[in-house]
Amino acid sequence: MAGPRPVRAPRGGTPTARGWPQEAALRMLQNNLDPEVAEHPDELVVYGGSGKAARDWDSFDAMARTLTTLGPDETMLVQSGRPVGVMTTHEWAPRVLIANANLVGDWATWEEFRRLERLGLTMYGQMTAGSWIYIGTQGILQGTYETFAAVAAKRFGGTLAGTITLTAGLGGMGGAQPLAVTMNGGVAICVDCDPRAIERRIGHGFLDTRADSLDEALRLATEAAGARRPLSVGVLGNAAEAVPELLARGAPIDVVTDQTSAHDPLAYLPIGVDFPEMAAYAAERPEEFTARARESMARHVEAMVGFLDAGAEVFDYGNSLRGEAALAGYARAFDYPGFVPAYIRPLFCAGRGPFRWVALSGDPRDIAATDRAVLDLFPEHESAENESLARWIRLAGERVRFQGLPARICWLGYGQRDLAGERFNEMVASGELAAPIVIGRDHLDCGSVASPYRETEGMRDGSDAIADWPLLNAMVNVASGASWVSIHHGGGVGIGRSLHAGQVTVADGSALAGEKIRRVLTNDPGMGIVRHVDAGYPEAEAVAAARGVRLPLREG
Ligand code: NAD
Repeated sequence: MAGPRPVRAPRGGTPTARGWPQEAALRMLQNNLDPEVAEHPDELVVYGGSGKAARDWDSFDAMARTLTTLGPDETMLVQSGRPVGVMTTHEWAPRVLIANANLVGDWATWEEFRRLERLGLTMYGQMTAGSWIYIGTQGILQGTYETFAAVAAKRFGGTLAGTITLTAGLGGMGGAQPLAVTMNGGVAICVDCDPRAIERRIGHGFLDTRADSLDEALRLATEAAGARRPLSVGVLGNAAEAVPELLARGAPIDVVTDQTSAHDPLAYLPIGVDFPEMAAYAAERPEEFTARARESMARHVEAMVGFLDAGAEVFDYGNSLRGEAALAGYARAFDYPGFVPAYIRPLFCAGRGPFRWVALSGDPRDIAATDRAVLDLFPEHESAENESLARWIRLAGERVRFQGLPARICWLGYGQRDLAGERFNEMVASGELAAPIVIGRDHLDCGSVASPYRETEGMRDGSDAIADWPLLNAMVNVASGASWVSIHHGGGVGIGRSLHAGQVTVADGSALAGEKIRRVLTNDPGMGIVRHVDAGYPEAEAVAAARGVRLPLREG
């Protein structure tokens, strides 16, 4: 049995595999396990709890070996992180096909999944762990930036300048909130009960400063907002007390959300419990702790609803806070919406989603050049969306530290992703870039996921749990020439709660790659248009009509 060892993708413009698509898959598999990128590389865990890149080290070695020898008319099949076959296909076919963590409906529970995992039969692939296109925390920062940009567009004329956002939770993902708010020009007050979380975010440059009291936090925030100066302030406290207190004082808060770890009641600090006692109390008396945490969450949500009644923009950030408050008997918990129906769905209707790319050269200058290309392709004066895109690209260039191979992410829509991809391919062909570019995306995209608690919450026609769409999405990408395609179960929200698909396409500068990119990067976001037209969204109908997306039921 092979064992753990440090893994790092080779850099540079000379492949060891028999073609760039195979080399790209190999380097991206290795990059996912780079200690700079992966959370627990020794256990092959990339991110998101137990999201893995390979089932075990023998499978990793077999996949690496196979990718090195794989021909341009062959396809490797991966079943939950384990290579199970190589088939003769053709040069337009994906070089790798991946299916991770899929279970038959009645068996789709965490208990059954863990039982099968212990038997060595399956692997949890999360979204981009098992499909080899994770790029570190930049993805979380950008997603959070995009959400706050959508809040600004919906309510505040395109910028958060002059507004104050109140939130809590400065953990692994929630820690992106203060920087995402300031990148949108706003002021954030962020409550966390763990002093280390506050210090860590300041250390990483995600949080500007800390205040010693709610009074001081409010004073700093109102001064900065008054001057339309971006600022983020961390303050130590329990959100279930701080949020009601700020409401009672009539604090001038414009936006309220939360990213405490409310999805797990044993990880939410109840009122009246000191933070240092929290872990032992949760371990020793989990039922009592859960009841108190839920009761506190009800007070927290009640205050958020109070801010809603007072006219603030209030949304749930996908952490189940509303659901837990409802379990504690708070009747108005679902008065405010989740972030997808509130802000992201209109973007999905336009085929917008998380477009990301990676420089196989390992040279940050390749990302700088592609950043400039994106700014040129989508001039900021042309639309509010382009303006927000340009702001992100510039700030990301200054603030984002690369993990592993240099990478970039930004949200692009239908009719944009293909332009960017073709431009990158031309830049590889002309020698402007030192090596090929890998183009992929998160599975959290417009037409690639069925997830009723998140991406497909509250669909207009009630089709939240219909999972044909991600399967069609994967098949379309296979038929269009993607370099590798994956179908996963359970990413983001857990086993039994989602099905989703991913594609990755390699721009190696060849004419064939250009043809594939044009089709994949049109059809992949095209699935978002089709899915949302089908669910009855007029915004998607308008984009389909304007862009000539063919809809058989509207023809003839
Ligand atoms: P984490 O566990 O790393 O951090 C949670 C933070 O909340 C900790 O710093 C903890 O000290 C703090 N906290 C707990 N109880 C508190 C209380 N009562 N008052 C103040 N602070 C409290 O978690 P994370 O990775 O940052 O994720 C946070 C939550 O957001 C999770 O529930 C996650 O599922 C959710 N999330 C959703 C999305 C999405 O849907 N797009 C994205 C990111 C995170």
